[in-house]
Amino acid sequence: MRLMRRILSQGRIPNALLFWGPGGVGKALAALELAKALNCKERPDDACDDCLPCRKVIHRNHPDVNTITPKAKSRTISVDDITDVNEICSLRPFESQWRTVIFHDAERMNPPAQNHFLKMLEEPPGRTLFILISEFPRELLPTIRSRCQLVRFRSLRPETVLELLRRERDLPPDQAEAIAALSQGRMDRALDLVDSDKRNIALHIVAQLRDGGDPVELAEEFAKNLEAQRKQIEAAIDAELKIDHDDAADVLDKQALRELRLAHTAAAIRRAILDYLFLWETWYRDEMVFAATANESKILNRDCLDRFRERVSTAPDKKIAAVEKARYYLDRFVNEERVFRDLFFALAAR
Ligand SMILES: [Zn+2]
Repeated sequence: MRLMRRILSQGRIPNALLFWGPGGVGKALAALELAKALNCKERPDDACDDCLPCRKVIHRNHPDVNTITPKAKSRTISVDDITDVNEICSLRPFESQWRTVIFHDAERMNPPAQNHFLKMLEEPPGRTLFILISEFPRELLPTIRSRCQLVRFRSLRPETVLELLRRERDLPPDQAEAIAALSQGRMDRALDLVDSDKRNIALHIVAQLRDGGDPVELAEEFAKNLEAQRKQIEAAIDAELKIDHDDAADVLDKQALRELRLAHTAAAIRRAILDYLFLWETWYRDEMVFAATANESKILNRDCLDRFRERVSTAPDKKIAAVEKARYYLDRFVNEERVFRDLFFALAAR
């Protein structure tokens, strides 16, 4: 934000900014703030959030603030999209001094689109600020990157996540603190931990294993759970792709969509599995810390302090190693159910 204020106060607006860094740390929000500040009638180098232009930006209906997102179906930004941008940019801004074009997931521009966009950057339209947002800037042409002023976004501090969580969700304080500590500095992860069942499931399995639950049964239950999640993800993707209802899609297109659906589902399940492993790893890390120091302030899962006080499992370091091993085998596509069965046996050991 300091950088943006500097840009605005100097009155030297660059042609293009590239906001890069992990997801869920506020890149899109910052882009919107900047667009507001550029359009605000009340303040020269900030946004008042109150004047008509500010409110139009907030409600996403300012005619001079354009947003480009990848198409849901192909998840790309195409040459046609860039041609549209080019056309808009050939006109004067409608209401404001400046036009802002925000590209979400800018790396999703396919190669022809990137080439087309590069030409625009080489002869930039006047009074236009391009803001490219990307988690994977290396997928952009180096020649595009070099024409952008880079702005790096880092993971948020846990206190910041906690503050944002308080605004977004109504949670008991110790749970909010635990989620913030487990978020790895990403707001999207924090919200996922709140809104999904993952953490409940992970902690349920830990408790069952500690209390003598059968690893085989638990592994079966967990596999069923993953299967249900797979179905949910597929349904969500289908809704997005409208795979069965789109008359316009020809046969070839449908085949491509099916492959895309498979790839997206596999990726989403993989992320979910990594989340579970992360949750187990941090749990046993907490047990290890608690056993060694009894320092409650160092516990990440601080909404479960009662469970730590009551009893921690033996040899948590070996359990962390077992989680590591599971991650190793899953990376090498060893059968999931078998990996989890072996893992649960190791986690159940006394
Ligand atoms: Zn304003």
